[in-house]
Amino acid sequence: MARSDTDLKIAVVGAGAAGVFAAIHAADSNPKNTVVVFEKTRRCLSKVKISGGGRCNVTHACFDPRELVQNYPRGSRELLGAFYTWQPEDTIQWFKGRGVVLKTEVDGRMFPITDNSQTIIDTLLDTASGLGVKIKTGHEVNELRVTQSGGFQLLLKNAEVLHFDKVIITSGGGSASGGLKFAKELGHQITELVPSLFTFCINDSRIEGLQGLSVPAATITCGKIRDSQTGPVLITHWGLSGPGILKLSAWGAKELAACGYRFEITINWLGDKNQDWVIKKIDFLRQTAGKKSLFASSPFELPKRLWESLLVYCGIEKQIQWSQLSRVATMRLVNELIHGNYQVTGKSTNKDEFVTCGGVPLHEVDLRTMESKIVPGLHFAGEVLDIDGITGGFNFQAAWTTGYLAGQNSAH
Ligand SMILES: Cc1cc2nc3c(=O)[nH]c(=O)nc-3n(C[C@H](O)[C@H](O)[C@H](O)COP(=O)(O)OP(=O)(O)OC[C@H]3O[C@@H](n4cnc5c(N)ncnc54)[C@H](O)[C@@H]3O)c2cc1C
Repeated sequence: MARSDTDLKIAVVGAGAAGVFAAIHAADSNPKNTVVVFEKTRRCLSKVKISGGGRCNVTHACFDPRELVQNYPRGSRELLGAFYTWQPEDTIQWFKGRGVVLKTEVDGRMFPITDNSQTIIDTLLDTASGLGVKIKTGHEVNELRVTQSGGFQLLLKNAEVLHFDKVIITSGGGSASGGLKFAKELGHQITELVPSLFTFCINDSRIEGLQGLSVPAATITCGKIRDSQTGPVLITHWGLSGPGILKLSAWGAKELAACGYRFEITINWLGDKNQDWVIKKIDFLRQTAGKKSLFASSPFELPKRLWESLLVYCGIEKQIQWSQLSRVATMRLVNELIHGNYQVTGKSTNKDEFVTCGGVPLHEVDLRTMESKIVPGLHFAGEVLDIDGITGGFNFQAAWTTGYLAGQNSAH
């Protein structure tokens, strides 16, 4: 039973971003609480360490909660209230209050000015330690039971049996997340787990050998999910990656999993440009550069090798000059520039950031407190919930926000 409002024993399962942040706030809101974080691996905050290419993309410079929620394929409607309580500005101020200044990059992503994720790890761990939070690494929670008296019993892999008044599950989103098993055993449904933020495998002569080239703002449309996304697209040795592709993978995570990652996409390499615009530009080139070969330069600001590859694919020979381009060849080229169809035959892991779509369904959790609607005293935070964002710092922001709410509201 919860012993008294001023002296609670709170267990946190998982020492990732959400767990450590939740523990900090559970201890900070009531210094008399005993807060223990159990982490099954030997290291805490291991995803923070590798995140953002070792720089940690902590959050995103987006300060209107209504705009912010639009970056969450799962959780957008439900997170609105939570973001009114803790949003990127709060994250920035929290780190600033501990001497960590975040900087904003042109695309809105925010990193510590040290460009080193260890800065974030040190700040979180120093704060937790200063508040008396105990972090037990190498301690896997194997079972979680509700006791007759209303508290919780934790059974650890090392056979220890421990009692707590409240439990915050922050064990992450993948299939290795112990918390999902506990949540299920305690009566929660688990929304199917599928990967989000993945890259597309495409075997196509138009992009073959072009790995490393990128187009700053291409539009990719996927009929299967009736969605289009515009953003940077990177050609890789297995297909396509980059924020434009990752956004599409996030919004279509479930449907694309259901079709076995075999689907067609259409690429407009010129972003928002339409057929009329391209035809006019080609007419202009006919008049002003009529004697030049189409291969001489890349007139649409595409990487030259991609431009040449599209010309070859359209069957346009090297000696053809702009003035000699037939109507049929013009239309083929226009189509390739703004409406090229590509077959995706699988997915590949985006090593820079990936998350799991699915988890504890949000309608089973009170999003004001992150408390389970099924098991009183049990809270959830982070990726274990059916919340995921697109790339750009949104996933950590969800971890800080839900971690804050879970910690704060489990503390009394
Ligand atoms: C390579 C990579 C880079 C990323 N970069 C970014 C980025 O720059 N910006 C961004 O916003 N997002 C990024 N993300 C996503 C972000 O890291 C996650 O969304 C976030 O870490 C989720 O935090 P979490 O605390 O919920 O879960 P996790 O970080 O997954 O932590 C869960 C912890 O629980 C532990 N655990 C699980 N089961 C048990 C158990 N039974 N007992 C004890 N412990 C247990 C796990 O070992 C783990 O340490 C990245 C993800 C990856 C994989």
